[in-house]
Amino acid sequence: MGNQEFDLHIIGGGIIGLCAAVSLQARGVQVAILEADKIARGASYGNAGHIATEQVFPIADANILQHVPAMLLNPEGPLRIDWRYLPRLMPWAFKLLLNMRSEPFAQSHQALLALNSQSLQAWQDFADKWQLTSWIKVQGSLLTVEKNTSLYELKAHGHRLNDLGVNNELLSQSALLDLEPELKDNQLGALLFPETGHITNLEAMAQKLTDTFKELGGRIFENCRVLGAKVTADSITLTTANRQINAKKVMLAAGAHSKVLAKQLTGISVPLDTERGYHLMLPNEATRLTLPVSSMDRRFIMTPMETGLRLAGTVEYAGLEAPANMNRAQMLLKQAQAMIKTPLDSQNSTQWMGFRPSTADSLPIIDKCGSVLLNFGHQHLGLTQAVVSAEMITALYFGETPAIDPTSYRLNRFK
Ligand SMILES: Cc1cc2nc3c(=O)[nH]c(=O)nc-3n(C[C@H](O)[C@H](O)[C@H](O)COP(=O)(O)OP(=O)(O)OC[C@H]3O[C@@H](n4cnc5c(N)ncnc54)[C@H](O)[C@@H]3O)c2cc1C
Repeated sequence: MGNQEFDLHIIGGGIIGLCAAVSLQARGVQVAILEADKIARGASYGNAGHIATEQVFPIADANILQHVPAMLLNPEGPLRIDWRYLPRLMPWAFKLLLNMRSEPFAQSHQALLALNSQSLQAWQDFADKWQLTSWIKVQGSLLTVEKNTSLYELKAHGHRLNDLGVNNELLSQSALLDLEPELKDNQLGALLFPETGHITNLEAMAQKLTDTFKELGGRIFENCRVLGAKVTADSITLTTANRQINAKKVMLAAGAHSKVLAKQLTGISVPLDTERGYHLMLPNEATRLTLPVSSMDRRFIMTPMETGLRLAGTVEYAGLEAPANMNRAQMLLKQAQAMIKTPLDSQNSTQWMGFRPSTADSLPIIDKCGSVLLNFGHQHLGLTQAVVSAEMITALYFGETPAIDPTSYRLNRFK
């Protein structure tokens, strides 16, 4: 891992690190990825694959507070807190609450809108350039409701988004069932978001990106966890289990695991925690749906993929160390079955848990501080924003002006 052989060491080989690595290596930067485990096996492996450009409101949303008690009381609900983790969650949760005030909420919303409005086109261009198009479908996605009261909320949500330029169409129940005939008639209507997409095979796409990165001359070091980082006036020292690396420049892209290293590299404590999420993959149900279908009432998503139907979602606050609670993955089957006409085949299903990297203001950190670049904290939208983030960080690396104003994503907002 020759110390000065590389211009840039990227810590973390999830979708964020990988897209940035390809973009930078393609522009002649000699890049090494240091990955604690295997490439793209973190949150980027098991997410719902939805290029969710329509999700332009922060998770720190005061409107959600009224639903929290009911969600927590329902053991099969979309939200769970491990009460043993609560004391450690409190500082982050308190900042999250502060970000629900109207001004910070509006700022985060604008900043999400700025990223998401460029995300789909960025993915399409990136996919064309690096031969990923066979895994990207841009056919839209659906947000359904099944309570009469939610129908009113859905319509208001659709109007609000249309006003913001997030195009959507309200579908009546019959139009919805024409589009997705496998849905039950308890689904009362939906918003169709035509300018969204989904990835049909995250693993295959990550493999292709990995191969591309290597063909461009990049190097990957797997099972290479960065244990510590120290910045001095003229170098950055990264400590791994086997050796110390004197790096010229470093990019932190370790997802939910970035907090400690960010503090060591920059001196700033980022309010980053994790919202754990689960998936259940049904390998025999690949053709049941044609589009990703999210339920507003049940708060989860079903995404059709080459390898099956992926049921994904739920938010669990339990930190990075507690073991996965796979009941949360299993309960997604019950949620999905309640929306699908005939029995779902759950034979050979697989379950998974991953760590969303969530900041208290719902925005990623995309920044350059001297020789340290930061690209993490993309919360529920890391797949969606991976390519726009890569473009921004590449511009920052070269001292160019990114196409999206980087001010809102700067680290110094946490100073
Ligand atoms: C259930 C679920 C569904 C989701 N659905 C969607 C969706 O549909 N659309 C969307 O846009 N987003 C979705 N997300 C969010 C998305 O998955 C994440 O935002 C995104 O994967 C984050 O990418 P990342 O590269 O930052 O993190 P990760 O994919 O977690 O990658 C970080 C990498 O860093 C490595 N690492 C950590 N510490 C170190 C260290 N010290 N040294 C070296 N390497 C280290 C890890 O091993 C890992 O490989 C979902 C998330 C979940 C959990």
